[in-house]
Amino acid sequence: MELDTIAAISTPMGEGAIAIVRLSGKDAVEIAGRLYKGKIRLEEAATHTINYGHISDPATGEVVEEVMVSILRAPRTFTKEDIIEINCHGGIVSVNKVLQLVLKEGARLAEPGEFTKRAFLNGRIDLSQAEGVMDLIRSKTDRAMKVALSQMEGKLSTRIQKLRQALLETVAHVEVNIDYPEYDAEEMTLDLLREKSEFVKNDIEKLLQTAQQGKILRDGLSTVIIGRPNVGKSSLLNSLVHDNRAIVTDVPGTTRDVLEEYVNVRGVPLRLLDTAGIRETEDVVEKIGVERSRKLVNEAELVLLVLNFNEELTPADEELFRISEGRDRIIIINKTDLPQNIDMDRVTELKEGQPLVTTSLLKDEGLDELEEAIKQLFFSGNIESGDLTYVSNSRHIALLNQAHTTISDALEAIESGMPVDMVQIDITKTWDLLGEVIGDSVHESLIDQLFSQFCLGK
Ligand code: GDP
Repeated sequence: MELDTIAAISTPMGEGAIAIVRLSGKDAVEIAGRLYKGKIRLEEAATHTINYGHISDPATGEVVEEVMVSILRAPRTFTKEDIIEINCHGGIVSVNKVLQLVLKEGARLAEPGEFTKRAFLNGRIDLSQAEGVMDLIRSKTDRAMKVALSQMEGKLSTRIQKLRQALLETVAHVEVNIDYPEYDAEEMTLDLLREKSEFVKNDIEKLLQTAQQGKILRDGLSTVIIGRPNVGKSSLLNSLVHDNRAIVTDVPGTTRDVLEEYVNVRGVPLRLLDTAGIRETEDVVEKIGVERSRKLVNEAELVLLVLNFNEELTPADEELFRISEGRDRIIIINKTDLPQNIDMDRVTELKEGQPLVTTSLLKDEGLDELEEAIKQLFFSGNIESGDLTYVSNSRHIALLNQAHTTISDALEAIESGMPVDMVQIDITKTWDLLGEVIGDSVHESLIDQLFSQFCLGK
């Protein structure tokens, strides 16, 4: 495939110690070479070296920037093409100037994600790995980053390829059987089909089991704080935000609701809903408060229900219990520094065995227990141990769910004694669906759409 030469600023816009203009394509070295002056000509520089020099405007001869230029010749590069990286250090203006010159010399401005897309098109990475790159850029916690990294390195791809290989073997076997019926290996073929299909089904199930946690790691856990006026909702919000390194949410190019706030609670990224509503100073009439909570509870994956230790339970409290029934929920009894008036027996009745934490947010007590409870709720058991092959991407989850259906259909067909070539249809479908995860059988428009979600210069 012959592709043109693309260029972009690959570092975030803004003041920084260095900024990088990156080029990829067959003319990358030549284009940069026309702008660069150093000890030796860029065309003569050895691959995988970094070279000190200056960039000047060929039209005027004016020096625009002092630079370090990395030269990486194909194919041992990220895109498998020649790559040039011009490290500039003079801030926004000069890096833009360098980019303009590069474009004037014949490079084309890269689209968002186009470098990664090239890596994909040139066969360096598959689609799920490319998506891992995107997740890595956007990850909100260390753990989410590790998951993205493992996906980028191809852990998920390897798993998927193994499954496809197993299916392929059965298909090949069936083909032989159909083409040479005199072999009469039908019985054996069915056993093989059953065995491989079960293996594939089980592994898809295992992958899907990681999906909930994977998705939480990637997208955050939508969380709502509910409670009557004055119980301490906004104090809780502030303590959570204060205690946990806030996570950057304004990812360029995404359409994220600006009102969202993220906190990282022991590796669980919480996406706090309606923080503006909680922070409103004047108390809302209780009835309106309950109505609003009802709506939010429906959107949330985790409900933090706050009660006042110092007051008796009111009908509004009971109503809040009711509207959040059956949800993942933690009961927080706040203001334990004041005398008890709450009926704990009744609370125990209402909470249906869900976790309960007592706090005095005023005295900074109980927050540790609350954070531990949040973590326990979502990361119980094995999650912290090694294996980071999580499925975290909705596209992958949807495909795996479909593949699970088709492979279950195949198994059912086997059990009900359907002819082998009927079973094969379901197996082939499964094979195709798994292929879509790694980009083996995806439509071009989907590829364009996926890569356009990337940041510029990536
Ligand atoms: P919200 O209306 O539910 O958001 O409640 P706030 O967080 O605004 O708290 C209402 C009042 O209770 C404020 O004056 C807080 O300082 C106070 N408050 C919050 N937590 C505690 C606590 O643990 N103990 C005591 N004594 N007061 C608290």
